[in-house]
Amino acid sequence: MSDVQPRVRFAPSPTGYLHVGGLRTALYNYLFAKRYNGKFILRIEDTDRNRYVEGAVEKLIESLKWCGLDYEEGPGKDGGYGPYIQSERLSIYKEHVDKLIENKHAYYCFCTPERLEALREEQQKLKLPQAKYDKHCLELSEETIKNNLESGMPYVVRLNVPPGLRIYIKDIVRGDVEFDSEVVDDQVLLKSDGYPTYHLANVVDDYLMGITHVIRGEEWLSSTPKHVLLYDYFGWRRPQFAHLPLLLNPDKSKLSKRQGDVAVEDYRDKGYLKEALVNFVALLGWTAGDDKEFYYLEELTEKFSLERVNKAGAVFNVEKLNWLNAEHLRKKPKDEIIDMLKKEIASSEYASITFTGELLNQIVDAMLERVSFVKEFLTKAEYLFKDFDSYDEETVKKRWKEDSSLLLKKLADKIEAIDNPLKEDYEHALHQVAEENNVGNGKVIHPLRLAVSGVGGGPGVFDICKIIGKKNVLNRITKAIEILK
Ligand code: GLU
Repeated sequence: MSDVQPRVRFAPSPTGYLHVGGLRTALYNYLFAKRYNGKFILRIEDTDRNRYVEGAVEKLIESLKWCGLDYEEGPGKDGGYGPYIQSERLSIYKEHVDKLIENKHAYYCFCTPERLEALREEQQKLKLPQAKYDKHCLELSEETIKNNLESGMPYVVRLNVPPGLRIYIKDIVRGDVEFDSEVVDDQVLLKSDGYPTYHLANVVDDYLMGITHVIRGEEWLSSTPKHVLLYDYFGWRRPQFAHLPLLLNPDKSKLSKRQGDVAVEDYRDKGYLKEALVNFVALLGWTAGDDKEFYYLEELTEKFSLERVNKAGAVFNVEKLNWLNAEHLRKKPKDEIIDMLKKEIASSEYASITFTGELLNQIVDAMLERVSFVKEFLTKAEYLFKDFDSYDEETVKKRWKEDSSLLLKKLADKIEAIDNPLKEDYEHALHQVAEENNVGNGKVIHPLRLAVSGVGGGPGVFDICKIIGKKNVLNRITKAIEILK
C-alpha cells in the first residue's frame, strides 16, 4: 500500500433490503478502510427511478449498523464530498455529460424505442453475440441535433465507444483483464428522464469523492471497460479495481432467493447473531491463509487484505453459518445470553411465566452446549418449560425396566423429604436409592430422565430436576409410573 489514505465506498442501489452479497461488499470495503487507516463511505445509487422503494435507504443504513459497519462519510455524515445520494447530484452529472458531448466522447441519441427494438430483433436474427447500438445518431448533423433538442424531442446521451480498441484493466483480485471495444456497447449515460445511468454516476462520483479503490462484486467486471473509458475521456486517473468472487448456492449456481434467504434482515429475524453473520460473510471469498475460521470484526480488520481474496466463486454454506452462530453464542458473556433469552421468552408462549435470574442462569448452563440459536433454549428441551404426555418409545423400550417403577417410587420418597433440593441433593438421593437396592446408578438415572423429560437425551438429568423444581419432578415421576407401569 502506498501512503495515500485509501477512500473506499459501498455504493448500493437501495432495493428495500441488504443482500448478503451486498453485506460482503460492504464488509470488505470496511475492513480494507480500517486496515489501512482509510475512510469507508456509503453512497446511495438511486438513479433508477423505476426501482424506487420507499424507506429503502433507511432500512439499508439500519442493516449496516446492525452488522456493526458504521460508515464515516455518507448520508447524514458529511465529509466534504456530499451529497452522498445520487438523486441529489443530478446537476453534477449533467455538467459532466455536457463535457463529454463537447469532446465527442458522447453523443445525443434520439432513436425511438421502436427503432431500438427493431434493431435488437435484427441483431438477434443475425445471431450476434450481443445486442449493440449501431451508432445511428452519431452521424446526425449539428443542425439536426439542435432542431431536435429545440423541438423537445426525447433523447438519451450515449458513450461513444471507439471500434478496434483493446481495453486493459488491472484488477487486484483478477489480475490483468483485457476487453475488446467491439464487445462494449455505446452505453446510455444520461436517460431521457434526465437521470444518469449507473455507469456515468458511478464514475463521476468515484472520482469526485476521491475513491482510491473500487471494491465490488464480480458482476460489475463486464461494466468496467465502460468505466475506464470514461475515466480516460475525462482525463482522470483510474482508481484501483478489485472484483470480488460471485456467491454461489451449494449446487454452484449463482446465489438466489430460490435456494434460501439472501437478505441480511431475514437472517437477523431468524435469530442469527450479527457476529456470526459478519464472520461467515468475511470468509466468503477470503481467508487469512491459516485454518482459523472464528473471527470477531476487530480481528478481521487487522488481518484483511485484498491480495488474499479468491477468484473462484464462494459457496454460501448455511451449515457453516449455523456452526459459527453456535460458536459465537457460546463465547458471549452469560449476562448477554440471559438478556437475549429474556427477550425470546417475552415473545414466546412462555411470556406469562416468571423466570427468576437464577432459573435463567441454570437453563443457560444446562443448554448452552446444545443450542446454536437463542430460540433453541426454548425449543430444544420443551420439557423444561411444560408438561408432556408422551414418552419416546425407543427409550421406553430400552430404559424402562420392570423395577423402574419401584426404584422411582423410592427416589420420590427421598426427594419428598428434602426442602428446596439442589442439584446435588437429587444426585445424592439417587445414589442412595441405587445403593440401597443394590443396582447400578444407571438403573435409576435412565428411568428418571424418561420420567422428567420424556426422552433419552438432553442436558444433565439433575440439571433438569433443579430447573423444573421439586413439585414437577414428583408429579412427573408419579405420572410416568402410572403410564409406563
Ligand atoms: N450500485 C451498484 C450496486 O448496486 C454499485 C456497483 C459498484 O460498486 O460500482 O451494486
